[in-house]
Amino acid sequence: MKRLYILFWLLFCCGLASAQNMPRVRQTIDTLTSETMHGRGYVFEGDTKAANYIRDRFAAAGLAPLPPSNSYFQTFTLPVNRITETPLLKVDGRTLKPGKEFVVQAASPTSIGKAKMLRLDTLIFSDAATARKFFSGDLTKYALVYRQQEAKRLRELPEAYQQKLQQAKVHIVLQKGLLTTVAQQQSNIPVLEVLESSWPVGAQKVRYSIQAEFVPAYSTQNVLGFVEGSIHPDSFLVFSAHYDHLGGQGKGVYFPGANDNASGTAMLLELAAYYGQPEHRPRYSIAFMAFAAEEASLVGSRYYVQHPVFPLSQIRFLVNLDLLGTGSEGMMVVNGKIHAPEFDLLQRINGRGRYLPQIKSRGKAANSDHYYFSEAGVPAFFFYTLGGTAAYHNVNDYARQLPLTKFPEIFELLTDFAAALQE
Ligand SMILES: [Zn+2]
Repeated sequence: MKRLYILFWLLFCCGLASAQNMPRVRQTIDTLTSETMHGRGYVFEGDTKAANYIRDRFAAAGLAPLPPSNSYFQTFTLPVNRITETPLLKVDGRTLKPGKEFVVQAASPTSIGKAKMLRLDTLIFSDAATARKFFSGDLTKYALVYRQQEAKRLRELPEAYQQKLQQAKVHIVLQKGLLTTVAQQQSNIPVLEVLESSWPVGAQKVRYSIQAEFVPAYSTQNVLGFVEGSIHPDSFLVFSAHYDHLGGQGKGVYFPGANDNASGTAMLLELAAYYGQPEHRPRYSIAFMAFAAEEASLVGSRYYVQHPVFPLSQIRFLVNLDLLGTGSEGMMVVNGKIHAPEFDLLQRINGRGRYLPQIKSRGKAANSDHYYFSEAGVPAFFFYTLGGTAAYHNVNDYARQLPLTKFPEIFELLTDFAAALQE
């Protein structure tokens, strides 16, 4: 009987982490990556829908909005170039699949038309006479086709040649994989990025359509909430994760951003739910920051650091969560080499709990939202998982392919680490 009782308890306790939380985590990630949220940025109000959802989850978890505004939102603007219609690309009569076989480069202007193909002569990079000849010709009727590695070399050509390149109707860059970004400006050259494997050998002509709109002051928002500490309310721990992603290109293409960063946002919401319960009330205050516009080079977190809601000096430690969807090869800690005592502490906790196969560390990097905090003197780590999926900044980063290999273990690691920091 006693043994049965223990067995029951074991099942019950082990079940708690996986049976109770993981379906909710999956649900969170499914919601954030759904078509309704449209890649959480810049078109069809995807970012605002995601922000509303996070705000409601913060409120349901019992987080308080940050004073003095008494709102969970911190609003700011940024310039952004957005692609408002599903792009079209037909090569010799065959329509390529938008999102899967090609995308519009983020900074492209509007451009619609037909063009004959002109393959870039790579001799222009090594032979001055070939370059002179190539650039003395008329490029205005052509779609200029070249490989990704040549795009970089084109930008190093003399100014006069760069000007000439702008005459081409459209540029077509052939790539091994597609990788989209967010552009804060509009360029003069319409560019389509096409999977090399989808490009027909000896292609003759294209028809294409790109609809872009430059918005000088696009309004978006960080979502902020906190739990007041029971003993040291003026000392803060901060958990942060960016909820924005790349948005979409018209109705037909959106970037789900499951690993980047629905995974970190889901972790942030799990932590909020945990610390929002009275029995888990922390000794320090804990702030939860869901940042916008990370993909536009950390604009949301930079704005926060420039407009902090409480003094940055009150932050004992910040842990930024971005790309938490795998973990078969452990985790990387950016700034681990800078904050040695905290990194050692993290290693000891991991060893004791046997959470992750390894925790690696590196130095500074401007690669996520911890960066401006760190530069402002706030001690901060950035966690990202290692191993598993390679899908990144394209339509393949969807929820179903995300293994969430070590998600429950990282949750345990984070709460243990936070507990140790408050001792
Ligand atoms: Zn990210």
